[in-house]
Amino acid sequence: MRKVSGLHPVLQDKIAVLIQKCIENGLKIGIAETLRTEAEQDALYAKGRTEPGRIVTNAKGSSYSSMHQWGIAFDVYRADGKGAYENGDGFFEKVGKLGEESGLLWGGNWRSIKDLPHFQLPDWGDTPSKLKRLYKVPANFFETWEADKMTAGEKREFDALKGRVEYLEKRAERVYHYTNELPDWARPTVQKLLDRGMYAGAAADDLNLSESVMRVLVINDRAGIY
Ligand SMILES: [Zn+2]
Repeated sequence: MRKVSGLHPVLQDKIAVLIQKCIENGLKIGIAETLRTEAEQDALYAKGRTEPGRIVTNAKGSSYSSMHQWGIAFDVYRADGKGAYENGDGFFEKVGKLGEESGLLWGGNWRSIKDLPHFQLPDWGDTPSKLKRLYKVPANFFETWEADKMTAGEKREFDALKGRVEYLEKRAERVYHYTNELPDWARPTVQKLLDRGMYAGAAADDLNLSESVMRVLVINDRAGIY
């Protein structure tokens, strides 16, 4: 799959940062592989074993041993027309460095099998062993993503802000825009002012009258001013 939308939300943000950094540094990249299903992983595993070609992975689909199956990894390719994996000029090292600056773990730093086009979130180690211990299967991990979007601190800040907005909304004075929504105590006065052309509203179809302004108008009306 090449879709970024299936990946961990934090990874999606970091991909956007990496792409931006690459643009700024004149490096054209594309996203080659993102989330990989069990069947897709099994097909890769078969290469060089039961299928022709050379071995490309040691991770079986059913063992969930690829970070790609957990939605926290992606691969890039070179998109400047010089060959998708051409690295004579150290292209992937440059992208790798920008990836690390974006908060990603880069496969080019691995000691055993270097994986130059590969990036992943750094929070769960190099391999999925920790994820497997915590969640058993990817589906259980995916379910936690929404909640993980906010850190505990951000959640507290968000709740405080929400409370403040609710308070301000409650305190905010109501503004009336249409004659049919006016309260009974204000309607005769406002209608009189409109009929006499003494008040025209903010626009032809918008009274834009606050409750406190209407109170003053009604007092004046009772005093016989209009
Ligand atoms: Zn990869």
